[in-house]
Amino acid sequence: MSIDLVSEILRLKEEKDYVILCHNYSSPTLYPIADYFGDSLGLSKLAAKTSASRIMFIGVTFMAETALILSPETMVQQASSSPHCPMAAQLKQEQIKEFIEKYPEAAVVTYVNTRAEAKALSDVCVTSANADRIISQLDEQQILFGPDANLAAYVQKRVPEKEIIPMPGPRGGCYVHRQFKLEHFEQVKAQHPDAISMMHPEASTVLQDTSDYVLSTGGMERLPTEIDAQEFIVGTEIGMVDRLAHLFPDKNFYPLFTGGICYQQKKNTLYSLYEAMAFDRNVVRLDPDILLRATAPIERMLELS
Ligand code: SF4
Repeated sequence: MSIDLVSEILRLKEEKDYVILCHNYSSPTLYPIADYFGDSLGLSKLAAKTSASRIMFIGVTFMAETALILSPETMVQQASSSPHCPMAAQLKQEQIKEFIEKYPEAAVVTYVNTRAEAKALSDVCVTSANADRIISQLDEQQILFGPDANLAAYVQKRVPEKEIIPMPGPRGGCYVHRQFKLEHFEQVKAQHPDAISMMHPEASTVLQDTSDYVLSTGGMERLPTEIDAQEFIVGTEIGMVDRLAHLFPDKNFYPLFTGGICYQQKKNTLYSLYEAMAFDRNVVRLDPDILLRATAPIERMLELS
């Protein structure tokens, strides 16, 4: 006997008092059951002020950990088991400690796309939406920043008065955005010469420099409401193209590269979500000391952004 997964999920949502937070890269099949969509920053803010008994996070593990850090009394679950972002695993505590030893005067700034252990050693966390704004407000001139080297380069350009030192180094980054090449851009632009291009700062600096706009996914969601344009080239994970097409059905959105798929995000399906809700699976847990020490840098981010 088959069950109507959407109806069952909505029933469990009501019965167990869930708020369902869904990252912008999620599959459109999950749209009917989510309460909120957004980028890491927007969803972090929602997690901090929810009154629901449980948070279900449709995204990857660092996002769900951030939700738990901001709402430690709430049960936080993930929609699939271990959807770990490979970039978040690139910055380890030992590496950060080595950098701190080498640059003792520097501020430690971590991209929110890190595991809680890295956040616990940070002075402040940032997202791609607020990294330049937050770093420009810090007193320190030297900034240890990781793990995404392309985002580090973007911030360096926007905040030239600071010295941005990438951790762990130039190879830190997202495998999805690092696949994007100038040839992809040139091909799509040749097919759609009037399209406005928006690029995520995790893409290469060449692509950042070539595009009309460099934006977080939250910024990509706002741009079609801010400018008079009908066509857009989207330089980020393919799920964002679906999200934008859903939000703006009268406009056209073209992926920079159709192979730009995050397989960790795509682990989240209606069925894995149903199982997590029905059987209380994929509960996010953190060492209490790590959780406590990771709280201040995230709260500081929310204050400064
Ligand atoms: S798109 Fe990249 S940074 Fe985002 S979750 Fe996937 S691997 Fe991580």
